[in-house]
Amino acid sequence: MAVRNDFDSLWHKLSEEVMSGMKEWRLRHPKATLSEIEEALDERLSKMRARMLEDLALASASANLNEAEVHCPECGSRLESRGRKVRKIKTHHNKEIKLSRAYAVCPQCGASLFPPR
Ligand SMILES: [Zn+2]
Repeated sequence: MAVRNDFDSLWHKLSEEVMSGMKEWRLRHPKATLSEIEEALDERLSKMRARMLEDLALASASANLNEAEVHCPECGSRLESRGRKVRKIKTHHNKEIKLSRAYAVCPQCGASLFPPR
């Protein structure tokens, strides 16, 4: 899988959804209190935040193992790729992000490597 770094159009769309969504919300809630407005805004921003976090995490080089370079931290043997695994992580406002990462196993000692970042 190629490193994802073409966020511009996606993020632009996300931010427009937040902004137009808030404008509509405000029209539908003309008597909202400051804390109600804040809550509605935080809900939308946290959605955008989770998505950006996911994209940024997956763009990092650590999301992909370079097989030629990766050796077992325990015994130094060359690791075998086991494809990718998805890890779900909860972030602020209980938003879930999914990180897909390369996963490798050592054929000698059975150690597994799952990039922690
Ligand atoms: Zn090993």
